[in-house]
Amino acid sequence: MTQKLLVATHNKGKVSEFADMLADLDLAWLSLDDAGVTMDVAETGTTFRDNAILKAQAYAAETGLLTLADDSGLEVDALAGAPGVYTARYGGAGLTHAQRYALLLQNLEGVPWEARTARFRCVIAVAAPDGALQGEAAGVCEGIIALAAAGDGGFGYDPVFFLPEWGQTMAQVGSVVKHQISHRGRAMRLLEPRLRQLLTAVNDAQ
Ligand code: IMP
Repeated sequence: MTQKLLVATHNKGKVSEFADMLADLDLAWLSLDDAGVTMDVAETGTTFRDNAILKAQAYAAETGLLTLADDSGLEVDALAGAPGVYTARYGGAGLTHAQRYALLLQNLEGVPWEARTARFRCVIAVAAPDGALQGEAAGVCEGIIALAAAGDGGFGYDPVFFLPEWGQTMAQVGSVVKHQISHRGRAMRLLEPRLRQLLTAVNDAQ
């Protein structure tokens, strides 16, 4: 029987990134919408770790599914680490990704290249069907906020996140490279052995 794994997000881009990273697993990858979850867990934590754990535990307890949750965001040095845990809400409610990164470029107007350093951070947590925390891992990806958007791959802030070692933005490098170097890819590689163990354990219990 194909096992279900809930990814605690409404963002299809994230679910398909996780599914791509572990493409060899025979899993049904479900977003919150796929699982029919209407409850909304507020991201009230002050760190990526707090929010990832909060979401994994609450959505697992709600659905009775093995649940993976990530919390991620962008830290921009010239903005004293903002938007950080507020990255998804940067600029307020109801904006598109393109409007949010346009605002970021606007807020960095006049900031020279060498001062545009930034990083994506990600923490992934996994909770058992009863809501108990079973694992966690963190990943970081360093880059520069570009002067203008470029590329149409990935999602979110990818078009303005320039990778000096690739000479391209995260939206230009393609998904294979992105998974290799991204904050989410790095965190997932660390969590992967634990996740495989958990999937085996849930399988054996069925
Ligand atoms: P979360 O869903 O609360 O983790 O929000 C993360 C925020 O950071 C969203 O605005 C995302 O668009 C952005 N973000 C996270 N990971 C990435 C990525 O890999 N590329 C571009 N933007 C990202």
